[in-house]
Amino acid sequence: MDAVVIDGKALAAKVKEEVREKAARLTQKPGLAVIIVGDNPASRVYVNGKKKDCEECGFYSEEHALPEYASQQELLALIEGLNGREDIDGILVQLPLPKQFDERAVLRAIRPDKDVDCFHPFNVGKLMIGEEGFLPCTPAGVMRMLREYGVDVSGKHCVVVGRSNIVGKPQAILMLRENATVTICHSRTPNLAEECRTADILVAAVGKVGLITADMVKQGAVVIDVAMNRNEQGKLCGDVCYAEVASKASHITPVPGGVGPMTRAMLMENTLYAAQSHGK
Ligand code: NAP
Repeated sequence: MDAVVIDGKALAAKVKEEVREKAARLTQKPGLAVIIVGDNPASRVYVNGKKKDCEECGFYSEEHALPEYASQQELLALIEGLNGREDIDGILVQLPLPKQFDERAVLRAIRPDKDVDCFHPFNVGKLMIGEEGFLPCTPAGVMRMLREYGVDVSGKHCVVVGRSNIVGKPQAILMLRENATVTICHSRTPNLAEECRTADILVAAVGKVGLITADMVKQGAVVIDVAMNRNEQGKLCGDVCYAEVASKASHITPVPGGVGPMTRAMLMENTLYAAQSHGK
């Protein structure tokens, strides 16, 4: 039997509608500032998408585009200015930055209560110890998808492939928080296929076309594909061999139309949360 396809696009539209309704009840519009440095075409697409999402949710948004050769000081001064503005609730620096920047220092310069990407060590620490606060957008989007499709994480064995600070690690933490038993795999895991076969819920967040094949998936497992790769034909695809895995899994996310739109929707939720916590 073919898997239930988890429709991230439709769910993201629902989440954004909920956010729009809540934002409309605030005393002031939530405000998001997006900073883009240089002319990376993928970054441009992401920034345009965020602007559109803000419009859909009824938020105020502004974009700050710095040239490729901008300095760290210039960027830090811009962040400092935005940190102090009451109309701006969230600040997002589109990554990656050109190589002259110290990315860690830039992310630390964002005031934690405006860190809607949840990349600041303060917010990552809160996540780790289970305190309420921002949730990292991609893993939070995955959790929301599971919840909406009636997949209970509690007591399940979740295998997360990938251990980045943006996806793999926080994904594992969020699953642990919901009482899953979690295994994290990475490039040094010697028996990846074997580990994956033990998963009730398998999350692939690597960035390698064709990495997860049907023989690595247990019959009836839930398979979440976070990756966004280009195949040889230039088509967007994930890490999972979709057709063969879909015939074995109980639920599967497509790429595109799966985790990607949910990540964007969760950014809107975080910006709403920031505005609420700023008393709007
Ligand atoms: P990353 O920082 O490059 O991390 C990739 C992880 O995969 C690393 O932990 C790496 O292990 C592991 N890995 C590499 N080769 C492996 C292998 N052969 N077997 C097992 N693990 C392996 O990437 P990322 O930022 O987490 O992103 C991962 C993917 O998700 C990318 O395709 C990215 O485009 C996509 N993404 C999508 C969204 C979305 O909204 N849908 C958001 C963010 C990222 P080591 O740590 O040992 O090197």
